[in-house]
Amino acid sequence: MDDFEPRLRSCSREELLAAWPVLAADVLTQVHSPEPPDKFARQLRGRPEVGRIFDAWDDLDDPSRGLAWGRLGRLLTEAAYASRPYCVRCGQCCRRAGPALFREDLGLIETGVFAASHLLTLRPGEPGWSPFEDRVVVLDHEVVTIKTRPEQGCLFFEPGHGCRIYEDRPQQCRQLECWNPNTRALSASDRHLDRRDFPLNDTERRFLNLQDKQAPFAALVAAVEAHKQGDSTGVDQAVRLIEIDLGLRRDAQQAGLDPAHFDFLLGRPLVMVLPALGFILARDERGAWTLRESLTEG
Ligand code: SF4
Repeated sequence: MDDFEPRLRSCSREELLAAWPVLAADVLTQVHSPEPPDKFARQLRGRPEVGRIFDAWDDLDDPSRGLAWGRLGRLLTEAAYASRPYCVRCGQCCRRAGPALFREDLGLIETGVFAASHLLTLRPGEPGWSPFEDRVVVLDHEVVTIKTRPEQGCLFFEPGHGCRIYEDRPQQCRQLECWNPNTRALSASDRHLDRRDFPLNDTERRFLNLQDKQAPFAALVAAVEAHKQGDSTGVDQAVRLIEIDLGLRRDAQQAGLDPAHFDFLLGRPLVMVLPALGFILARDERGAWTLRESLTEG
């Protein structure tokens, strides 16, 4: 919300006061709150921290205004969420990413609410969206999530209808109360599921162990880092890991494993995650593999 209505940053106190009820109504609409906008704007305007910003507004220099404006946006948003302390199934959190799974969600696999083909594993070192920190973080442990669809978010989110498995939604979706700032601390301490928590057969377990040994994600991160530091062996290491990873997937398919489960069982192919580390694999003018900086990360 730091950037909300940026043109108003340069307005006078009087203009800001006039625009305040409209801003409040907009934010309430965004979070689907039934709160009457005029009452909401008046009550928030009466809070000391908001009053102080309004009182000082005309005397603030530009950098101070930027900070004050960001603060106003955050106060407005928090208050708007707090005005509807229950889930209204707006789908805001569902559009961002698929939820990570926790211990309590194992039963949802057993009862068939979702299957391995609905899941994606993110390995340590991969970037992933943290709803508790509200930003992309580099994961320090493995996380199994529900897959997403481009532009739509969680696989189970149906625009216009909401969650298709709402009554059986995973723990994170139940615990993440977007209107409650304390939710983050509560849920972030719980333990995520990793692949070995799931009932795997011997063949699946064998390929998981092979991948851990021969093509761990951390090794790709190390190879890319070496390349960035000017170590010419970094590219060779990265290419080797990517080839091993693709080879494992071919072997796993030949061993009878279903490729529809590979995003869960083996995570995304290393070559597909490489852009998240800032690079793509490309041929140089002599036809040799090289790492080229990718324009879009993630
Ligand atoms: S499982 Fe349902 S509630 Fe949870 S993110 Fe997906 S669509 Fe939203």
